[in-house]
Amino acid sequence: MSVIIALDLGGTQIRLAVYPKDGIDPIIIKKIPTIVENIEVFDRLSDLIETVWSVDSVDAISIAVPGPIDPVTDTVVAAGNIPGWDRFPLNKKLSQKYSTPILVGNDANLAAVGEWSYGAGRGHHHLLYLTVSTGIGGGVIIADKLLEGARGLAAELGHITVMSDGPICSCGAKGHLEAISSGTAIAQYISEQIALGHNSELSMNQKQTAKLAYTAARNGDKLAIEAFTRAGYYFGQALAGFLHIFNPSIVIIGGGVSQSGDLFFSPMYKSLRESLMDSAYLDLDNVPIVPPQLGDDAGLLGALAQARIYLEKREYDRLVK
Ligand SMILES: [Zn+2]
Repeated sequence: MSVIIALDLGGTQIRLAVYPKDGIDPIIIKKIPTIVENIEVFDRLSDLIETVWSVDSVDAISIAVPGPIDPVTDTVVAAGNIPGWDRFPLNKKLSQKYSTPILVGNDANLAAVGEWSYGAGRGHHHLLYLTVSTGIGGGVIIADKLLEGARGLAAELGHITVMSDGPICSCGAKGHLEAISSGTAIAQYISEQIALGHNSELSMNQKQTAKLAYTAARNGDKLAIEAFTRAGYYFGQALAGFLHIFNPSIVIIGGGVSQSGDLFFSPMYKSLRESLMDSAYLDLDNVPIVPPQLGDDAGLLGALAQARIYLEKREYDRLVK
């Protein structure tokens, strides 16, 4: 039997799943912590693959990594949470060890591919996927193809400017969407407002989190509600821009912040409607805005889909030659 090995490399965990030729139920699933003292992350990843390498004939190894991939040089451009992975030649290093096609993709992009192939976006040809958690990432499918850009840097949807004089983003720029609408940004805003003397039941908490803010907002805390309203409102403005550019037939919004319901989505819909140049972007085809379906497995299933798309194309090319 031939199998595909899929991996999802996160800041805290490396997850691995072995999938059969068809279907999305893994034969084997494993997870290990990403960072362990004195062992390179690459070695941990490679050793994890080693544990399943001999189970069957491996058609491909496909990996989701937390950073953009340059399709020209086939390097990981930067993986924020992984030390030493700046312009890292992951593909080349694994190819030296394993004689099977190695495919590497950005995790948010692959989550979009996963939802498109096996989740909420099945049957759509134009799809916009966004995840709003500690950061904001996304992926775009246009005419059945993942948008990568010239150097794999496209679809950084959290890093567009929505407030020219706004807070500093994790990337260092000012006023990006991620610096206003992510979970980290919601917590940060509350801390700042408390420091300025605003009243809140959260005042006694030393370290703010979006989760604490959610509970406070549900209890009617004005500052917490304001933080979510601000996040949702600016997110809606950005989303209008994305609809203008990509004109998707479905929008999938996931991540922890998206689970805060009306607190986030009511202001989002308000500003989205206000900012759209024409309601046709949403209404003409009843474009749904829906949650993802694959949960924590989106990265693994995206990596699986990436491998199957590659293998199908290789087979097609072989047949037509
Ligand atoms: Zn940024």
